[in-house]
Amino acid sequence: MRGIVERMRSAVVRLKEWGGVALDLAYPRVCAGCGSPDPAAGRFLCWDCLSRVEFIQPPFCELCGDPVGGRIGHAYHCALCSGRRVYFDRARSAARYDGPIGRMIRDFKYNGHLWLVEDLADFLVAAVRSHFEETSFDAVVGVPLHWTKLRARGFNQSEWLAAALARRLRLPIARRCVRRIRADPTQTHLTAEKRAANVLGAFATQWNRWIDGRRFLLVDDVMTTGATVNECSRALKMGGAASVYVVTVARG
Ligand SMILES: [Zn+2]
Ligand SMILES: [Zn+2]
Repeated sequence: MRGIVERMRSAVVRLKEWGGVALDLAYPRVCAGCGSPDPAAGRFLCWDCLSRVEFIQPPFCELCGDPVGGRIGHAYHCALCSGRRVYFDRARSAARYDGPIGRMIRDFKYNGHLWLVEDLADFLVAAVRSHFEETSFDAVVGVPLHWTKLRARGFNQSEWLAAALARRLRLPIARRCVRRIRADPTQTHLTAEKRAANVLGAFATQWNRWIDGRRFLLVDDVMTTGATVNECSRALKMGGAASVYVVTVARG
């Protein structure tokens, strides 16, 4: 059986070969993973770095996609999902956060390397094609930032990723149908329980008549415990969404 990792990797390579040709004409590129001057695997990633990307493969939690070691034949729910109400239908990530992927995401998000968006979108496209093959969507939506954070960062990385993914999947992007109504302190050093409490009630929807009955693909850069995407999914479901599937580039 051709594994999911092989399928994802070759999907990413195919996508990058296309994008790389156009960019070569535009300006010289270096690898975003290691700085090598020949990112031949595509736009901004070299073969070596691509080979070091750890694609996420089964077995994993059926709900949140958190990978688990060993062999599991039955439908498995992780301890976190067993102990919480899960509002998204499924969540899946393309790769582990470590290594070149983490570096790309940090450069994209904190250093404003916005040209990495298409490379990161390659991983999202590969994840959607591999994990949500049989699922249909009506719209793509990025996890919103609170306006104070948006002003400080200058852009919303999730919305950029959502827009790139929507374009590639030829789906509409739903902007501003869900808003972040509270500026929460950063989640990085919190436990799973505290993360969930931290984002409780952080999102609100508008234009619920538009949301009603629609199937959403919710996009974020990184997912750790899934507290943020779960809360965002809760708002969308309360607003009438028929389904919310979550895809992220990386799993922290
Ligand atoms: Zn490299
Ligand atoms: Zn889980």
